[in-house]
Amino acid sequence: MTFIRFLLLFAPLLFSCQESTQSVHENQNNVAQTAVKDTSTEQTINYQDIEKKFLLGQIKPQQNDQFVEIPVPIANRENLYMQKQALESFQKMQKTASKENIQLQIISAFRSFTHQKWIWNSKFNGKRRSGGKNMAKEFPDPQKRVQAILNYSAMPGTSRHHWGTDIDINNLNNSYFESGKGKTEYEWLKKNAHKFGFYQTYTANREDGYNEEKWHWSYTPLAKDFSYNYKKKISYADIKGFKGSEHAQDLKVIERYVLNNINNECMHEPGN
Ligand SMILES: [Zn+2]
Repeated sequence: MTFIRFLLLFAPLLFSCQESTQSVHENQNNVAQTAVKDTSTEQTINYQDIEKKFLLGQIKPQQNDQFVEIPVPIANRENLYMQKQALESFQKMQKTASKENIQLQIISAFRSFTHQKWIWNSKFNGKRRSGGKNMAKEFPDPQKRVQAILNYSAMPGTSRHHWGTDIDINNLNNSYFESGKGKTEYEWLKKNAHKFGFYQTYTANREDGYNEEKWHWSYTPLAKDFSYNYKKKISYADIKGFKGSEHAQDLKVIERYVLNNINNECMHEPGN
């Protein structure tokens, strides 16, 4: 009884420290309200507590009030969803950019586990090309095939697109961002996106992990919470239900592609 009284008195204080924890209050149905203290760094950070189904993309955004459909033409088509808080910040960024004649459009956002599984399995079976290749023919050995597909696609359950915090902007080719209009857009993003909480996740010159993606940007005020919870809660037992999943652990997919080898600004703690 005393503990409950303590919670009632002090719970609001626990949730008032950070913008990202504020959203926990507003979305009581979806996200548990546990403040997590990070004792591994000198700072005390109140990460919001996120359920596993949100970390793995096992939700329907249409039925979840934390997610919103992105209006067209902010998105290039209907039926793209992302976290409400991340969209609000993107809209501010998009308006600011537009005043400087830079047009930003979201071309991919939330992707469910089921959707990622469909992409992954079709690449594994050779029904869909990956990097211009039929991976089933090029790599008869399943583990080598999984590694080859990982250069271009995330394994189901390990994509930051499951979180609703990460988006692809304007074009899915690095070459687009290396000359003309695309280059101007990319330079604007590098200079300004951080003011709105967005950072390029997969930058150049990393030793391992995904290739550079100039189009993929992460809304870090929320994504850091997801990353923290992912590290605490997700194990290889959760990465299952698709072709080649038995190789996830041997290839250290969680460590190499989710927790490390990303832009330091997207890490939930320095030197994670
Ligand atoms: Zn992406």
